[in-house]
Amino acid sequence: MSETATAATITAPDQEESWVYFEGGIRRYRDAKLGLMTHALHYGTGCFEGLRGYWSEELGQLFTFRQPEHYRRLRDSAKILEMELPHGIDELCSITDELLRRNGYRQDVYVRPLCYKASEEIGVRLHNLRTGFAIYTAPFGAYVDVDAGIRCMVSSWRRVDDNAAPARGKITGIYVNSALAKTEAMSNGYDEAIMLTHDGHVCEGSAENIFIVRDGSFITPPETDNILEGITRASLIHLITEEMGLDVVQRSIDRSELYVADEVFLCGTGAQVSPVIEIDRRRVGDGEPGPLTMRLQSMYFDICKGRNDKFRDWLTAIY
Ligand code: PMP
Repeated sequence: MSETATAATITAPDQEESWVYFEGGIRRYRDAKLGLMTHALHYGTGCFEGLRGYWSEELGQLFTFRQPEHYRRLRDSAKILEMELPHGIDELCSITDELLRRNGYRQDVYVRPLCYKASEEIGVRLHNLRTGFAIYTAPFGAYVDVDAGIRCMVSSWRRVDDNAAPARGKITGIYVNSALAKTEAMSNGYDEAIMLTHDGHVCEGSAENIFIVRDGSFITPPETDNILEGITRASLIHLITEEMGLDVVQRSIDRSELYVADEVFLCGTGAQVSPVIEIDRRRVGDGEPGPLTMRLQSMYFDICKGRNDKFRDWLTAIY
């Protein structure tokens, strides 16, 4: 069994008794209800975050990964939607710590903050609507083996453009784009989709950023190619340049570069560092997870699990 967890499906029945933050207070999941007319439910006018807590059995500690960075990105996403978070970053971090402690987790967890247009009103717009805010947390159940690598297809769905719906923001409505691509890929027997931009450059996965390796150097699309500004991506860029001493080039990537790359991997809070071994039924490299990818993956897990003191400031110790 690998220590690499992916997003197991989290469903409400397991959650009923758990503590959540909703409308200004901590309450039970089952007591946090939204009205049928809630604006965000109809128009996708919300934004969210997803962050992980890693349980370390050795240290008896739960560590969340880059918690303030996730709340800063949520603040930016909210700004795009003309909303303001109800609390400052430090306060949101304290609320998250408190929730996780109350839920008493001794296992890997997921944290999902959500800021949304809460008015129960008809009329598509951003202005003159009440802001709602919630955070729920949930155990991350099943572990799957990503050491073996995943198989991807280039999606027939293009990534949303910044001028249509800005992918820079983690905006709920935009995830229809990801959902179309992900389901298309899975229905076709693949694990994940790789979306292109409107001008045909490689963009990202349905919920992951992408890197390729060519001749020992890492290449990833720039933030201006309609990607989500991934926190894992930024962390890996730091590790590749500062710890591995290798180059990261941020530039547009052609589709055909996927076919000639030595290594390809997807990264994100859910996917962590996932080697890609096949794209469009073509083998990536020799069809095995790449050595540089696996080195990076191992460094990443050591940091997340609190095994690398140098990067303790990327973690929040909950207990
Ligand atoms: N792209 C998209 C579309 C995503 O949903 C995610 C997951 N948040 C990512 C990239 C990776 O971002 P992060 O590393 O911050 O989780």
